[in-house]
Amino acid sequence: NETQGLNFLQEIIEEDQRTGKYAGRVHTRFPPEPNGYLHIGHAKSICLNFGLAQQYGGKCNLRFDDTNPVTEDTDYVEAIQRDVKWLGFEWEDRKFFASDYFPKLYDFAVQLIKQGKAYVCSLSPEEIREYRGDFTTPGRNSPYRERSVEENLDLFHRMRAGEFSDGQHTLRAKIDMASPNPVLRDPPIYRIRHAHHHRTGDAWPIYPLYDFAHCLSDAIEGITHSICTLEFENRRVLYDWIVDNLVSGDRPYQYEFNRLNLNYTVMSKRKLLKLVTEGFVAGWDDPRMMTITGLRRRGFTPASIRDFATRVGVGKAQQLIDMSLLELCIREDLNETAPRAMAVMRPLKVVLENYPEGQTELLEVQNHPQKPEMGTRQVPFMRELYIEADDFMEDPPKGFFRLAPGKEVRLRSAYFIKCEQVIKDAAGNVVELRCSYDPATRGGNAPDGRKVKGTLHWVPGNAPVAEVRLYDRLFSVEAPDADDSKDFTTFLNPTSLQTLRDARVEPMLVDAAVESRYQFERTGYFYVDPKDSKPGKPVFNRTVTLKDSWTK
Ligand code: ATP
Ligand code: MG
Ligand code: MG
Repeated sequence: NETQGLNFLQEIIEEDQRTGKYAGRVHTRFPPEPNGYLHIGHAKSICLNFGLAQQYGGKCNLRFDDTNPVTEDTDYVEAIQRDVKWLGFEWEDRKFFASDYFPKLYDFAVQLIKQGKAYVCSLSPEEIREYRGDFTTPGRNSPYRERSVEENLDLFHRMRAGEFSDGQHTLRAKIDMASPNPVLRDPPIYRIRHAHHHRTGDAWPIYPLYDFAHCLSDAIEGITHSICTLEFENRRVLYDWIVDNLVSGDRPYQYEFNRLNLNYTVMSKRKLLKLVTEGFVAGWDDPRMMTITGLRRRGFTPASIRDFATRVGVGKAQQLIDMSLLELCIREDLNETAPRAMAVMRPLKVVLENYPEGQTELLEVQNHPQKPEMGTRQVPFMRELYIEADDFMEDPPKGFFRLAPGKEVRLRSAYFIKCEQVIKDAAGNVVELRCSYDPATRGGNAPDGRKVKGTLHWVPGNAPVAEVRLYDRLFSVEAPDADDSKDFTTFLNPTSLQTLRDARVEPMLVDAAVESRYQFERTGYFYVDPKDSKPGKPVFNRTVTLKDSWTK
């Protein structure tokens, strides 16, 4: 049961605590490979690992799983730390690097050789794969399988000394070539790789493989519950085999949960990297990217992402979550916390013919309709104003309650206005409305009890121009990478970014602090972009619309 009661990981932990395993200790880890930025799927894993530790008074390590020198980079290490912190989690003094364990892992490998449980194989990587077979074809023994311990030790030392070239030899665990699970057919545990590592430099010409490095890193750190995604389920036997042969006393166990899949996006770091390097987006922090840094720049709050991670739950069943759930989480958060403001995306000029020229009055407007404690602000009102071009129709259909010739509407927190005349340019475009206002309706109500159906947002004629970026889903199909034979970039949504350069915002917003969030009335939630805003020239990113326009 994923929505009430305990999830299966909590049940395991509580059972372990009941039976006194690990003396009640809970120690998890979040183990990213620093080969890209974290995405919303990682957020689920972060919330889970740090969350379980918090819940059970345990600890959670941040461990960089940096055993693959060619794809990893120190910039990614920095970015990952920023993102985990921003999400609200603290590893304190428990930041580790698998690469710090290279000497220990090497010693473990030597032990395994001495036990007769690992050997140096001189088949090429392709031959190893071919000899291994798969679920339908059996494995065949390597001709190097029966090398003596002495010979294996000698060759392994020389691999470490850099005497051989890439792929010339491989250290393999000696398990069972007849196993029905190909994972156990003498899996490679060390390979030769003459490559520069972002932390160890050129010190090591050999690198441990994931299956060997991960479980032993868990053991070295005293991890109790090693939580990973379901793809690793058939590798758990190998995890156990390595740990059982090399670790005594308390040992970690692996548990698998369902990974988060979201529609309308791609999630693997490799694909996200392609979007960045080939210029389909402006960077890892492009607000359309489902990276943590992208969501942050889009205006998501850490709380909304943690809430999302809780709501998607954790279990064993494949999980495809609708993007609208993520949007719901931020909408609910910002509905509570974001002050209201007015901004006009596509301005249409309105002139109030009976309003005195040169006069300005200040109207008191609430910052949050349900939260008087959020205070009020003053918005100038004058003869010239702007409304949303969409809020006027010259020839409106039935049921259009906004402005039209001869019709009356309310301007939010201001007055009733009535459209008296429509001004067009030579091409026939509406460029200005001549209106009248009713001075008796100040504040938005008519003393004679007269009703209007539409209430429009507006800004005064001296409202500053601001850039507004309207973001939409990055892909126009639900599963852009479902079919490997098609390049997922062909499914990019061509209108995922619309830049409005002539939007106008109410005057106090020129000084909006970067990274602050507002609800623009009737329009959506917006975030002041921290990179492109300049003093007096804010850029607003639309975080999410007010209503879900995707779900039918
Ligand atoms: P990707 O394939 O996107 O690059 P990865 O699993 O290779 O992801 P890692 O850096 O190895 O990336 O992941 C760190 C942790 O985050 C792992 O424990 C992994 O299981 C978890 N994780 C990655 N993607 C997801 C996801 N979509 N849902 C839940 N957890 C995830
Ligand atoms: Mg990985
Ligand atoms: Mg990966």
